[in-house]
Amino acid sequence: MQVTIKTFDSLGSTNTEALEMARGGADEGVCVIARRQTAGRGRHGRKWVSERDAGLAFSIILRPALPPESLPLITLMAGVAVHETLTEFGLVLDIKWVNDVLIDEKKISGILAETTMTDKGLAVILGIGINIRSSNFPPELADRATSIEDSFDDPERVPTPERLTAILTGHLSRLYEKLLAPGGPETILGDWRERSSYFAGKRVTVRAFDQTLIGTTDGLEPSGALRLRKDDGEIVIIQAGDVEQLRADPGSL
Ligand code: ATP
Repeated sequence: MQVTIKTFDSLGSTNTEALEMARGGADEGVCVIARRQTAGRGRHGRKWVSERDAGLAFSIILRPALPPESLPLITLMAGVAVHETLTEFGLVLDIKWVNDVLIDEKKISGILAETTMTDKGLAVILGIGINIRSSNFPPELADRATSIEDSFDDPERVPTPERLTAILTGHLSRLYEKLLAPGGPETILGDWRERSSYFAGKRVTVRAFDQTLIGTTDGLEPSGALRLRKDDGEIVIIQAGDVEQLRADPGSL
C-alpha cells in the first residue's frame, strides 16, 4: 500500500476529514494527521481527547477487497499494528476487545473504524489515537488512561508524532496486506490472540443489548465477534457494534 501523509494543524476529527476525502475519491493509503483535534470521537459518539502535539491523531483511508463479514477484522488488525508499534519502544501491552490497546488496564490507544460508500466503492476510515504525553488527556481520565511518556523516565526516549507515524504506517501496511492475502483473516485472528489477554479465559463484564452480562471470554468467531461464556454455560456471541462497554471483572485481576 502506498502511504501518503497529509498533516493538518487542527481538525475537528481526523476521521471526519478522511471520510470527506474518501467520498471525494481519495486513494487508499491517504493518511490524515492533526496536531490537535477539537472533536475527536470514539464509539457510540463518545469523546476522544487529543491536545496539541501530545498524541498521535491519525486516520487512514482503506478500500478493502474483503467480504462484508470480514470488515470487523480491520479493527483487530489495527490493534495488532498499534501493539507492534508500541512494543518497539519496549512497552508491555495488552489489547482489549475490540478496539483498545492497554498498559496495566489503562488505555494508551483507541481505534475507531468507520465505513462510507463512495463512487469508488466502500471505504473504511481507520482512526487511531495514541497518547504520547499524558497532557493529551484530562486528569479525570488518569485512572483509565496512560501515555508513552508515563512509561519512560527519560524524556529523550519519548518519540515524536512523526517517528510514531513512520513506524505505525509500516506495521499497518504489512498487516493490512496480510489480512487481504489468502487465509488472511485466520492469520490476523491468530496475531490478535497472541497479543490479547482478553481472547479467552478472562472474566469480564459487558454492557450490551441494554443489559449487563458477566462471564468468561471464550475466543473469537471468524468474523472477530467475541464469544462470552456465561456462568450457566450459555455462549453469547457479541458483535463489536453491540457493546457499549467491556471491562475486566475487577474480582478476577
Ligand atoms: P471504554 O473506553 O469505556 O472501554 P471504548 O473502548 O468503546 O469504551 P471508545 O469509545 O473507543 O471507548 O473511546 C472513547 C472513550 O475513551 C471515552 O469515553 C473516554 O473514556 C476515553 N478517552 C477519551 N480520550 C482518551 C485519551 N486521550 N486516552 C485514553 N482514553 C481516552
